[in-house]
Amino acid sequence: MKYLKTFAVSLSVMMLLSACSPSPSESEPMLEPTVGGENTILRSTSKVTNDAQTKKIITTQESFQIGTHITIKVYDDKEVPNDVFDQIFGLIDIYENRVSKTISTSEVSNINENAGVEPVAVSDAVIDLVEIGQNYAALTDGLFDVTIGPLVDLWGIGTDHAAVPSDDARLTEMSKIDYQKIEIKPLDKTIFLKETGMEIDLGAIAKGYIADRVKDLILELGYDHAIINLGGNVLTVGTKPNSDAWQVGVRDPQSSSGNTMGILKLEDNSIVSSGIYERFFNAGDTRYHHIINPKTGSPEFNGMYSVSIVSDTSVDGDALSTSVFLLGLEKGFALVESLSNVEAVFVMEDQSVYVTSGLGDRFILTEKSYVIKSLTD
Ligand code: FAD
Ligand code: MG
Repeated sequence: MKYLKTFAVSLSVMMLLSACSPSPSESEPMLEPTVGGENTILRSTSKVTNDAQTKKIITTQESFQIGTHITIKVYDDKEVPNDVFDQIFGLIDIYENRVSKTISTSEVSNINENAGVEPVAVSDAVIDLVEIGQNYAALTDGLFDVTIGPLVDLWGIGTDHAAVPSDDARLTEMSKIDYQKIEIKPLDKTIFLKETGMEIDLGAIAKGYIADRVKDLILELGYDHAIINLGGNVLTVGTKPNSDAWQVGVRDPQSSSGNTMGILKLEDNSIVSSGIYERFFNAGDTRYHHIINPKTGSPEFNGMYSVSIVSDTSVDGDALSTSVFLLGLEKGFALVESLSNVEAVFVMEDQSVYVTSGLGDRFILTEKSYVIKSLTD
């Protein structure tokens, strides 16, 4: 499968970043092939700025990995050395090579090729990710399902062959999707897909999981204040060095140029959004986006434009943003309210915005064409 390597996604991320950046005069950096770890990675050099507000030095590097634009911003008393970024981008590279469905030698590709044939030995990370996927499948009654791969391939959204499939083709691929047919043996460290044609796709959770591992590494290396942005999955390390909250822009799902519609104040939290704006194609009057309901075999249309989840870990935020999008406003809102330390902002097609109770004044609406409503209105 050939992905369209447009920089539209990258641009939207840059806009989000500038919204959460303390220094407004950022220009788009040049990404160049750089050896970091085993592989050549498309990556920038360091940009170093003095932050007047926190009196710290911010060192920023960017890369293009896991099919998206990545920005790492670390605050310290002095410039952060290049080898710290080598380690960060090298770690992302290791995970990408394990979990990407588009890398033929990855563990996930190996599991998929051996579907219906035999169990495959995998790393702890892949066991963790598939187990997390199973938990969210149970929580959503199978709407979230990491065996969604055959339907993702059929629709091809984000590739050069995206098209509306025939009903027959859709039904055939739907029959291959069933998270209950994944056999995980944690002690043997193997995963087996019980039927031929099944395919795992970790696209809905892997970015969050990798962001959490990058945060662990940054803390281990002795840095307490940073922003990790993996294609819009934003994970903050600590508070800002002056103890202020970080301010992260929430993307306006209707803006093609990546404008924001609100601001979230975060401290040591993750914010992850899922929506109709990230990957899609238009056919007739319909915009077909990439979050697929396994029970209909088609992108989920429920009046939601986007949902942003605030949580402690990014993997939970990532899994929940996709899950809650699939559940729709009422059920998704109720699920978020039932979970501790998880909050959400829902943006609907009719310009209404719903904010869960724990966010309070941590969400500020900045785009006045939207109206905050309550589910009891
Ligand atoms: P999310 O809402 O978090 O996830 C949507 C994605 O989840 C869909 O794209 C699909 O993959 C999957 N999904 C859809 N429906 C369901 C469902 N019902 N249940 C569970 N999952 C579902 N993109 C490229 O263009 N080129 C690449 O080479 C590439 N490599 C990647 C490698 C890795 C390791 C990862 C994690 C991602 C990669 N991507 C790549 C991006 C990937 O294809 C997805 O588009 C992306 O992860 C979607 O993230 P999101 O936050 O936009 O949406
Ligand atoms: Mg997700």
